[in-house]
Amino acid sequence: MTGKTVGIVGGGITGLALAHYLDRHDVDVALFEATPDPGGVIRSGRVDGSVVEWGPQRVRRTDRIDGLIGDLDLESEVRTAAPDLPVCVYADGDLHPAPFSPSAFASTDLLSAEAKREVLAEPFTEPASPDETAAELFARKFGAETYRKLLGPLFGGIYGSDPAEMPVGHALSGLVALERRDGSLLKTAIGRTAGGRDAPPAISFDDGLQRLPEALADAHADAVRLGTPVTAVRERVGVDEPGGPTYELETAEGSTAVEQVVLTTRADLTADLLADLASASVGSLRELTYNPFATAYLRADLEGEGEVDPAALGYQVGFDADLRTLGASWNASMFDRDVYSVFLGGMHDPEVLDESDDRIGEIAAAEFETVTGAPAEVVDVHRLERGFPAYDDSWAALDRVDTPTGVRLATNYTARMGVPSRIREAASLAEELADS
Ligand SMILES: Cc1cc2nc3c(=O)[nH]c(=O)nc-3n(C[C@H](O)[C@H](O)[C@H](O)COP(=O)(O)OP(=O)(O)OC[C@H]3O[C@@H](n4cnc5c(N)ncnc54)[C@H](O)[C@@H]3O)c2cc1C
Repeated sequence: MTGKTVGIVGGGITGLALAHYLDRHDVDVALFEATPDPGGVIRSGRVDGSVVEWGPQRVRRTDRIDGLIGDLDLESEVRTAAPDLPVCVYADGDLHPAPFSPSAFASTDLLSAEAKREVLAEPFTEPASPDETAAELFARKFGAETYRKLLGPLFGGIYGSDPAEMPVGHALSGLVALERRDGSLLKTAIGRTAGGRDAPPAISFDDGLQRLPEALADAHADAVRLGTPVTAVRERVGVDEPGGPTYELETAEGSTAVEQVVLTTRADLTADLLADLASASVGSLRELTYNPFATAYLRADLEGEGEVDPAALGYQVGFDADLRTLGASWNASMFDRDVYSVFLGGMHDPEVLDESDDRIGEIAAAEFETVTGAPAEVVDVHRLERGFPAYDDSWAALDRVDTPTGVRLATNYTARMGVPSRIREAASLAEELADS
C-alpha cells in the first residue's frame, strides 16, 4: 500500500469501481455508502418472481466492464442480448428500427424523401455552436422531421429531457468535438458504421444489473461501509502532521482521516456535504435539476401476441405521437425474461407523477398494447423524483462549482452518465490519484 487513504462518499457504481481500481494500484480506501445496499441508482429485485430493474436496464459490455466481469468471476451469470439489436422509434403509428447504417437509411420508411435529402445535406450546414440548443442544432443540421421523429426522441430519451431546453455547450460537447475532428456529423456517423465500430453487446446478469455493484462491494468488503452516511466533510485542523491526512469524513461512527476525498453523490447531497468546505459552490450545486420518472413493469408475450418484431432493445416515442410514454426497454426479449419496462414522465410530462400507481400502470399497459399489439399485465410501478440529470440550462451553474485541492467530484452530472462511462472515469481517476 502507498500509505495514503482515499475517502470515497457513495457506493454506487462510480464509488465501488473507483475502490476496485484504487485497490489495484495499492491505494487504501475508505468507502461510505448511506444505504444498506450497494449500487446507488442500480437497483434490481424480483416482483412475483420476475426480475425488475428499478434503475438502469442494460449496460454495454465495454472492455472495462469485461475486465470487471473477469476480476469478479461473474461470467457464468452474464446475460447477453443478441448482437446488433436496433433501438426503434414509434412514429406515424408504427415502430421503425432507427436507421443508422447507410442501407437502413436508404430503405427506411420512417423518413420522407425530403427529410432524407435534408440529412444528406448536413455536411454543408454551419458547424454546431455551444450557444444553440440541442433541438436547434439537430433541426438546423438534419431537418425538422428527422429531429422530431428520430434524433430528438433518441437523444432526449437518454435523459428524459427536452432537447429544446438542452444547450449544446453542456449536453453535446462530445459531439461538437467529433464534428470538429471529422468536419461533419454525418461523416462521423458513416465513419463509425463503415469502420465496423459497432456498439458492444447489451448485457445484464441473471439476477439483474445490481449483481455488479454487489460483487464489487463483496470483493472490497474491508474498505466498504454500507449503511453509513457521511454527514460532513471537513478540513483537519490543529494536527501537526506534515504530509498527513488533510480531510475528515464524519459519520455516526466517528470521523475517518483521509488524504483525498472523492464525492460521487447527487448534486443536492454533494451541496450538503460541502457546506463547510466549499460554501461558495453550494448554491450552484443545488441549482442543477433532475428529471422525474415513473417506470411501469409489464408482463407481456411479444413473441406470441405482439404484432412487431421483438428482436430490439426497445423504443423511444416520436415527438408527434399522441402518447404519454417516453419509451420502453425490452428486457424480456433481450435477456430471456418476462417483464418489459415502460418509462413515463421526464421533462415533457412531470405531471404524470401526480397520478396514482394504478393509473400510471394503466396508461403504460394501454400504450404498450397500442405500440406492440400485445396486451400487458402490470407487475410493478416505481417512481424516481430525481431520476436523470437534466443537462438543461441549469448546467450553467456547474461553471461556478469549485472544490478545494484534494476534493474531487466523480459524478454523472459533471461527466457522462452511462454505467460504462462511470466505470471509465473511475479507472482514470484511480490512476490519477495513485500517481498524485
Ligand atoms: C432510471 C435510470 C435509468 C438508467 N438507465 C441506464 C442504462 O440503461 N444504462 C446505463 O449505462 N446507464 C443508465 N443510467 C445511468 C447510470 O445508471 C447512472 O448514471 C449511474 O449508475 C450513477 O452511478 P453513480 O455511482 O455515479 O451515482 P449513484 O448511483 O447515484 O451513487 C451515489 C451513491 O451515493 C450514496 N450517498 C448519497 N449520499 C451519501 C452520503 N451522505 N454518504 C454516503 N453515501 C451517500 C447514494 O446512496 C448512492 O448509493 C440510468 C440512470 C437512471 C437514474
